[in-house]
Amino acid sequence: MAGTIAEALYGAQSVYSSAEEARAAAAALAATGACLLCVLRFMGVPLGPAYQAEAAAEVHEALGIPVPAGDGGSDTQEQQQQQQQCCPACLDILHHSLADEVADRYRAQEFDAEDAVIGVDLPKSVYVRQRAMEVFCAASSAVRKSAAVGVKDALKHVVGQRLAATCGIAIDNSDSQMRIEIALAHAETADDHRPFLPAPQQDSRPPGAPRSKAKAKADRARDHEPNLAAVVGELAACSDADFRARFPCPPRAAAGRARIGSLELRRASLFVGGRYLKLERNISQTPFIVDGQRLVELSVAEIIGEPLRALTRSDAYNLVGSGREDADVRMLGAGRPFYVECINPRTTRLAPDQIREVERALARSASPVQTRRLQLIAPADTAVIKEGEEHKSKHYCALVWLAQPLSEARVAEINAAARHGLLLQQMTPVRVLHRRAPLTRPKRLLALEIAHIEGHFYRVRIESEAGAYIKEFVHGDLGRTTPSLASLAGTTADILELDVENVSLDFPPP
Ligand SMILES: [Zn+2]
Repeated sequence: MAGTIAEALYGAQSVYSSAEEARAAAAALAATGACLLCVLRFMGVPLGPAYQAEAAAEVHEALGIPVPAGDGGSDTQEQQQQQQQCCPACLDILHHSLADEVADRYRAQEFDAEDAVIGVDLPKSVYVRQRAMEVFCAASSAVRKSAAVGVKDALKHVVGQRLAATCGIAIDNSDSQMRIEIALAHAETADDHRPFLPAPQQDSRPPGAPRSKAKAKADRARDHEPNLAAVVGELAACSDADFRARFPCPPRAAAGRARIGSLELRRASLFVGGRYLKLERNISQTPFIVDGQRLVELSVAEIIGEPLRALTRSDAYNLVGSGREDADVRMLGAGRPFYVECINPRTTRLAPDQIREVERALARSASPVQTRRLQLIAPADTAVIKEGEEHKSKHYCALVWLAQPLSEARVAEINAAARHGLLLQQMTPVRVLHRRAPLTRPKRLLALEIAHIEGHFYRVRIESEAGAYIKEFVHGDLGRTTPSLASLAGTTADILELDVENVSLDFPPP
């Protein structure tokens, strides 16, 4: 490694052709108070082994700059106070303790990711100070012109190395499912960018005329916190001389280190698909809570989602069904297709049997909600659930009470007339008017068959296209659905029980 580091500092790849030249540059940079990594950055040393914490002693020696007090591990109080002065260029963002903190907090969550992408959000002052160092370097006779490495890239490299070493994950910029977002904060230098805000524009509009867009934007930038792009743009537009007039070059030291303002560890969602059966009534598909009050005790989402959340150690979950039945309607037959999105899962490397065990546990506990074909699915497979809504047909079985029992001949007549289906005109039902626009929609029943049970009671089997309101078809909804079973039977009809017996959508994928 010794060869590699010397090569990086003053070898063929470097702008410095001898150790003496490199040391002179390092001395000039170190005199600004810059940390070792910032010395390397402004010497144009490409990201690599020289930036590793383990190489620090070797790099210090190669560049002939003294090891700062306190980096040996046995700090006296006095040394610690000296240490309070932090790097004026990176505000100690590149200090190994920050990379360690990110790695520790990542490790504590026990994600089973194999790789990750790191995102970095730097304080604006770091961009100002980067430019101040560049202006300083340009004027220095010892520091050669080179492409300085940015703080963002350097931090990604340092944190990436630490994560690779301590957590065994690979850091690349591919489309990893794991994102580590580090936002840094440094209150002390929060005003560094103020000298570089867009200049106020001359207000030449006549009194009362609306402000121009550009003027309004400039005002916003001045009055409120400007966005980073505005500051970076202003810095780029600034000449070295102009910059020097507004900001000290090299930048002044800061007393305290930048800290991690927020660290977001976000894993792409994991999707589990299957079909659910609801064997009892009074279970809603998702928690039914109005004004903080729970109206239905159980939900399909919680019964299936909670064990999946525990298995994947997710922050949250979300169940999406291919349509939904009312809480008082059972879901029988082969079940209703659904998927559960597990949000920010820690565990995603799951054997098919671990998912099936969730299904088996529901069966063992005789849960009122059961699943079929529970399995991991690809994110793209969820589209079928969302789009399948319009294409699928459903089979229902209803227990119906008729005020006036029908003759056998009349039952046969209705069945014969409806054998090839019925076209309904359904106005938006009264019970959903609060959330759906009042419209009349044509809906097709594909099949209808009435069978007498006894007395006033009938078993009615219906196959309908998606979106037809079955309860309203039975009782007529005060004449808003025509024809209805009530109008066909010529008497009042009441629906006592309703079951969905089949949802014809092929899901999950085989
Ligand atoms: Zn630094």
